[in-house]
Amino acid sequence: MRKILLFAIPVLLAYCQCKTTPEKGIIMTVNGPVSSEKLGSWLTHEHILVDFIGADSISNDRWKKSEVIEKAFPYLQQVKELGCQTFVECTPDFLGRDPLLLKSLSDSTGLNIITNTGLYGARNNKFIPAYAFEETAEQLAKRWITESETGIDGTGIKPGFIKIGVDNGNLSEIHKKLITAAAIAHLKTGLVIASHTGPAIPAFEQIEILKQEGVSPEAFIWVHAQSEKDFSKHIKAAQSGAWISLDGLSDNKLQDYVKMINNLKDNNLLNKVLLSHDAGWYDPGKENGGNYRGYATLFEKLIPLLRNENYSEKEINQLLVINPSQAFTIKIRKVPQ
Ligand SMILES: [Zn+2]
Repeated sequence: MRKILLFAIPVLLAYCQCKTTPEKGIIMTVNGPVSSEKLGSWLTHEHILVDFIGADSISNDRWKKSEVIEKAFPYLQQVKELGCQTFVECTPDFLGRDPLLLKSLSDSTGLNIITNTGLYGARNNKFIPAYAFEETAEQLAKRWITESETGIDGTGIKPGFIKIGVDNGNLSEIHKKLITAAAIAHLKTGLVIASHTGPAIPAFEQIEILKQEGVSPEAFIWVHAQSEKDFSKHIKAAQSGAWISLDGLSDNKLQDYVKMINNLKDNNLLNKVLLSHDAGWYDPGKENGGNYRGYATLFEKLIPLLRNENYSEKEINQLLVINPSQAFTIKIRKVPQ
């Protein structure tokens, strides 16, 4: 009996360790973990619901789930038919993040949908709750780690990435705190950090803080990188390992996107590009949710254009399938010692 117990203790300990260590090749959706090879083509930065009322006034009773579902469903159905299988919903907490709504749409459309943890500081901290000004980076990180371990607001639905947001210029103190908290949470959870950033100055400042915290730039998605018009900055960031998210795609910007993607391809960095529309969404502040922008341009227009530019099927697959699944795989990425 004693022998069996002595044998059992290390086995149990090993089991507990693997529960806290992220598994390789796993992506967390609103319906739980999925193997990263089974996710098909992705949209890596979109929205279903965004409420701009502000952190001091937001609450889930500002929208009716059934109305949001009715509005969003046809657009999600459309991209599913166009070949999209995995949809990253980037609306952060205090801007209308609603995991149960996303789960319901995932169940009805069959799309894998991914939600997030974190706090969005852009637009002058309008969406930052009062506690975040008082708490330390470690305390904020603890909240995000708890969500990734136990789920969001008692739903059991876990985030698949960390979403933060910073303003355009040099990082303010609170935005430095957000990226530091994201670094701490990454080192514990292995969730990739997608930061609403825009131009290069705050992008490189965030990458620097990540490195100081021991996190590799490979854990960083430079969101809205298309706002930086000096494309050499895309190259520099991608060479450091960061993901370049060109995510404001629309019908009238196709040629700009072809140029930016060609530039990365010419520098052998096609393996660091993420593409999306930053489209949608139901806005509770507008009548009937306002104008909803669909998600079809990437599949209907950009991919055919890239084929015309002699992109191979392997390269298209790299952009739509391989890059997103690598970026969002749960994996702790440390700066090499
Ligand atoms: Zn967005």
